[in-house]
Amino acid sequence: MSTLALAFDLGGTELRGALVERSGDVVARVSEATLAGAGSEAVIGQIIALAGRLLKEHPQARVIGIGACAPGPLDPKAGIVIGPPTLAGWHNVPMIDILSRQFGLPVRLENDANAAALGEWRFGAGRGAVSMVFVTVSTGIGGGVIADGHIYHGRRGLAAEIGHMTITGEGDRCFCGAVGCFEAVASGTALGRRATRLTSPGDGSLLRRLSKDGDVSARHVVEAARADDAGARQLVEAEAKWLGIGFTNLLHLYSPEVIVMGGGLANGFDLLAPGIRATVEERAMQAYRDVPIVPAELGDRAGLVGAASLILWEGEPGTALAMVQNEETKAGGPSGCSQSDRA
Ligand SMILES: [Zn+2]
Repeated sequence: MSTLALAFDLGGTELRGALVERSGDVVARVSEATLAGAGSEAVIGQIIALAGRLLKEHPQARVIGIGACAPGPLDPKAGIVIGPPTLAGWHNVPMIDILSRQFGLPVRLENDANAAALGEWRFGAGRGAVSMVFVTVSTGIGGGVIADGHIYHGRRGLAAEIGHMTITGEGDRCFCGAVGCFEAVASGTALGRRATRLTSPGDGSLLRRLSKDGDVSARHVVEAARADDAGARQLVEAEAKWLGIGFTNLLHLYSPEVIVMGGGLANGFDLLAPGIRATVEERAMQAYRDVPIVPAELGDRAGLVGAASLILWEGEPGTALAMVQNEETKAGGPSGCSQSDRA
């Protein structure tokens, strides 16, 4: 068996683990519900148990390290999960230190959106691009930026909070407290909310029939639009316009060769694409208008394979180590020490 990495994708609802090859192929995969309310020790216990299961099922696996991703805010260089809103009791948890001590292996950490961006860039819809923006549109909006062959981190690894760029002065308040965030107007949640407001229980609309007279979700809107429901079509059109406005900002800011859209709403990508494209044509400056906007290819394994690549593609552009070494070269410091040594 070839060289493998253990990969973990820690989410607020699901914890996923996998053994991943350098090609991005997933050899084995396990998952369970995250004990999100139980604190960091319990969840790290889950990670250790899942690793045990994977290694027991594949005793011949040559595992060279662990790549993990978790919700932000997170400091990839220091290896610290700072305090994700979806995980109770996590405050400055030194994830790299804990896991490297437990397993005696090198550990790399990245925030989940960046890991998914790395996955799509190396193995999915962004293959071959030198610069790419990945946008995930589901409950919220997140993303990652590959700029000139590297994941773009910014101070403390906090760059590319795409969902919280302000794109309007109105609308519902974002969970972050601000008004007009991209995610507050263009996420799947926002689309579902608009559909719910536009209809009412028992009105006989297709949207409410699909939702069984409960709140309408983005999934229902996409389904109704596919059935050519006029109300749903209009909602999709409005959604595509918001996405197009956000994507236009991303084109102007990062000048990627491709924008990759993932997340739950990518299921309706074919319906949204014409409206997104039309908005970009209308709003972007001439030089940016021909950039392809494509759906993600890897689904929910993007984060896992991206995290694994932090280990398996180490030293190649875009890895955490390359970033550390670049800075050490600049500072004239020693090279080759692990991130955990530096944390
Ligand atoms: Zn916000």
